[in-house]
Amino acid sequence: MTWLFEILFPRYVWRVKTSDKKIYLTFDDGPIPEVTEWVLEQLRLYNAKSTFFVVGDNVRKYPEIFQKILTDGHCVGNHTQNHIKGWKNETDTYLANFQECEKSISELKPSGTNLFRPPYGQIKRSQANEILKMHKILMWSVLTKDYEANLSERKCLNRAIRQTREGSIVLFHDSLKAQKNLYYVLPRFLEHFSKKGYEFCTIEC
Ligand SMILES: [Zn+2]
Repeated sequence: MTWLFEILFPRYVWRVKTSDKKIYLTFDDGPIPEVTEWVLEQLRLYNAKSTFFVVGDNVRKYPEIFQKILTDGHCVGNHTQNHIKGWKNETDTYLANFQECEKSISELKPSGTNLFRPPYGQIKRSQANEILKMHKILMWSVLTKDYEANLSERKCLNRAIRQTREGSIVLFHDSLKAQKNLYYVLPRFLEHFSKKGYEFCTIEC
């Protein structure tokens, strides 16, 4: 389905055009204790690099976990300060929340970030116009649905493996909601694609 979004919203990045065996993992909504730290351990096992779209409020609460993401050589992107919905907020309110997250990130990482992902994939054109002046808006080509409690772990894994190919941007969540599926899927996903000779890369930093 994302081919349709790619046509409708060509200004956003949906996947990386490459024939190299590269996969772009992304983790949204952290950093939080336990889940994010566990994700970092899994990535380390495969020397996998990834991009974390952080909620500014979590960065403020858990600066030491945010720091671990950076120390491990991963990328970070802005995911708003309070995980707010673009369609439900006025552009000014939305941009202020975006800026607040910029601040949370740059307090710990002075070079900041040039990546943004809108929570729920929802963003108005007027909001995107402003954000695109300084940032890339990074969407995804593989939605693992790890946050869906009713989705079985095996189905979640099969879905993720079936949809992933060269250049895929894969969306996971380092959140409590996704924990059940993530703990099953991520190690198996990493193992599956490592054995096939794939590398796990960051978009850019
Ligand atoms: Zn999110």
